[in-house]
Amino acid sequence: MSLLEIDDLSVTYESPDGPLQALRNVSLRLEKGEVLGLVGESGSGKSTLVSALLMLLPDNVRTSGRLGWHGNDLLALPTPARRQLRGNGIATVSQDPFTALNPVVTIGKQLVAFQHHKAGSRREKQTRAVSMLERVGISDPAGRMKQYPHELSGGIRQRIAIAAALLTEPELLIADEPTTALDATTEMQVVELLNASRRLVDGAIIFVTHDLHLVSSLCDKVAVMYAGEIIETGPCREVFASPLHPYTRALLACDPARIDTPTRELPFIAGSVPVPGMERVGCPFQPRCSEAFAPCERVNPPAIFSADGARMVCCHKGIKHA
Ligand code: ATP
Ligand code: MG
Repeated sequence: MSLLEIDDLSVTYESPDGPLQALRNVSLRLEKGEVLGLVGESGSGKSTLVSALLMLLPDNVRTSGRLGWHGNDLLALPTPARRQLRGNGIATVSQDPFTALNPVVTIGKQLVAFQHHKAGSRREKQTRAVSMLERVGISDPAGRMKQYPHELSGGIRQRIAIAAALLTEPELLIADEPTTALDATTEMQVVELLNASRRLVDGAIIFVTHDLHLVSSLCDKVAVMYAGEIIETGPCREVFASPLHPYTRALLACDPARIDTPTRELPFIAGSVPVPGMERVGCPFQPRCSEAFAPCERVNPPAIFSADGARMVCCHKGIKHA
């Protein structure tokens, strides 16, 4: 049994303009010790998948499929069991560290509260918090414990948010675009910290980002999302060396870090993503795909796996580029 087993997960938001399907039959496996990069353009459904995993989907959604975690289907769990799991097992670091931290409570009190389900006295939890702040590279940790979030820079706040997540000793740490709000230097420091966090998480990490370069430096596996579907997965090294899906190839061609001859204009993928609420026929990428042929207009390609099962692509051209 894998640590995380997602099977045919679909999520539809009920909006005033009608139903909007944000995830379509998403299936994914994550093993203990793996770091997965989840990439895709804005609106592709990355945060919806994360919210489903964190059991934080809003009330206006319909879900189907299975979210298997330790043999339980998270979608079918009763509310008290969900609450328990939220603070104990799956932790998150979000784009905006302010959302993780209470503005009117000192860092010290919050870091103790994050350990509410752990054994030990208040003093022991304080000691654990100080040592975690040290481990995430914060100087004068005892002094920081007495401060409020607004007294700290964005980079320090994000480090504290990571420390808070790690203090819960999660088996799954989900970082949803954790560096987007930071300047370039601080971003690199936080990326290094996330990389080091691998050793502190006895489980797996999902790293959500637009930045393919970050994925290639941090992750073992990558899942590429397009318009609510996972259209390619595989080991990072293989996917970046020989992408199978035309969308993955196009994304890589747009990555500034991979362009040999810098030009003034960044390449971009022509056309736009399907309108989320619209009925779909055929492959969702077909209108933008330079390699599309007749079947792509009519049939949404099923998942095709490599012989060893490590790679998957949803493309009628199949696995032949590997
Ligand atoms: P980004 O890279 O911009 O963060 P994303 O890949 O995380 O994008 P989601 O936020 O999961 O994408 O959004 C997927 C689709 O679901 C989008 O069309 C979005 O407008 C829609 N959506 C997200 N949250 C809600 C909501 N609470 N109610 C209705 N629609 C929503
Ligand atoms: Mg998002």
